[in-house]
Amino acid sequence: MRSYKAKMVEPIRLPSREEREAALDAAGYNAFNLDAADVFVDLLTDSGTGTMSAEQWAALMRGDEAYAGSDSFGRLCESVADVMGFEHVVPTHQGRGAENVLYGVLVDEGDVVPNNAHFDTTRAHVANQGAEPVDCTLPAARDPDSSDPFKGDFDVDAGWELVEEVGAESIPVVVLTITNNSVAGQPVSVENTREVAAFAEEIDATFVVDACRFAENAYFVRERESEFAGWTVADIVREQLSYADAVTMSGKKDAIVNIGGFAAMRDDDVFEAAKQRAILYEGFPTYGGLAGRDVEAMAVGLREAVEPPYVEERVEQVAELGRLLVEAGVPVYEPTGGHAVYVDAERVLPHVPKDRYPGQALVCALYREGGVRGVELGGFAFPGTDRPDLVRLALPRRTYSREHLEHVAETAGRVRESAEEYRGLEIVEEPEMAELRHFSARLRPVPASHAAD
Ligand SMILES: *Cc1c(COP(=O)(O)O)cnc(C)c1O
Repeated sequence: MRSYKAKMVEPIRLPSREEREAALDAAGYNAFNLDAADVFVDLLTDSGTGTMSAEQWAALMRGDEAYAGSDSFGRLCESVADVMGFEHVVPTHQGRGAENVLYGVLVDEGDVVPNNAHFDTTRAHVANQGAEPVDCTLPAARDPDSSDPFKGDFDVDAGWELVEEVGAESIPVVVLTITNNSVAGQPVSVENTREVAAFAEEIDATFVVDACRFAENAYFVRERESEFAGWTVADIVREQLSYADAVTMSGKKDAIVNIGGFAAMRDDDVFEAAKQRAILYEGFPTYGGLAGRDVEAMAVGLREAVEPPYVEERVEQVAELGRLLVEAGVPVYEPTGGHAVYVDAERVLPHVPKDRYPGQALVCALYREGGVRGVELGGFAFPGTDRPDLVRLALPRRTYSREHLEHVAETAGRVRESAEEYRGLEIVEEPEMAELRHFSARLRPVPASHAAD
């Protein structure tokens, strides 16, 4: 049951099968090229696609558009202090702006930065500083059937091996991403957070939490970590973040806004340096590339993220989509994470070889069969890696109802039943930068005559 009702609606439409096939063709079999109006249930991302509350819409009207010293900034600072426990806040246009500001201050050329798993933009910003991003991911994370409750944890042993290899002096920052987006949205325990904080302290590194999904993570902690049974999500958030020296945040995730982000920190000198860098890249440090109204809506959304029963319904809706898919015979990564269900495309389309992109073929099949848009995160998006071909179905916050989830599961079930129709895809056109190819490459279905080679 949802503890809210709709106050504003946006029509969506399922185009006919012929229209969907034509749209796919025109999009070069790349879901990023589809017009949103041609998508029925859009599970491309949970980033900035959520539904704001009546209070957030009201906050937009209250937004103070002063260039400097805006009231809205003051309210953001109060929310960040109350909800997350940080005194210093630097607003930014979104999460990657916070990464640019903070890592620009903390990371130098030749450094090495360990993370339980770098999100794409984090990896890019570390690399952009001339440093090397290293993932310290648990071995259990690679097993889609392992029921380990905290598969998102940082592998501290791997961290120590890295110290031995490169020396503590090369590691200025240790990052912990909660929940672990690159590992199927799996949570990180508070116990692991304490261990990583101790590890960072021992090597004299700044401990940064990538806190984009801090509330979803705290809900998992309450359900799965015995020490925290009976705690509120709000108290768990403050406990978990109390170990961090700084956070980077995308407001488009757990602050439930369409745009916005911030970095927050305890150290006065880091704050001063971050503000200087923010002026260069984001804007004056009381608006950070945002309108005052965006800052105001983010201040409200941060508080809503930890209010019961919001986050429980949010995470349980994702689990529900996972269950419906499994009931439809569709194999998914288990347990389901906080923001998305990951479908194992290699098991849905077992006859499609890896070099015919089973993940991307499944993305297209889901659209063709039911107007559902997901995204491939496997061999097509990450060329040259041995990533399994997973298709992510990310749920926007407070947006779709159970009937939409049932439609998604039925659609995926039909694709599985007609799997032989799909022979895979081949790339016709791709951009120069291989890392960005899944955003703009064009593909086509493998012709029947090529199917057997
Ligand atoms: C989305 C995200 C970011 C970047 O935030 P943007 O708002 O998209 O720039 C960084 N880290 C994680 C874990 C994310 O999910």
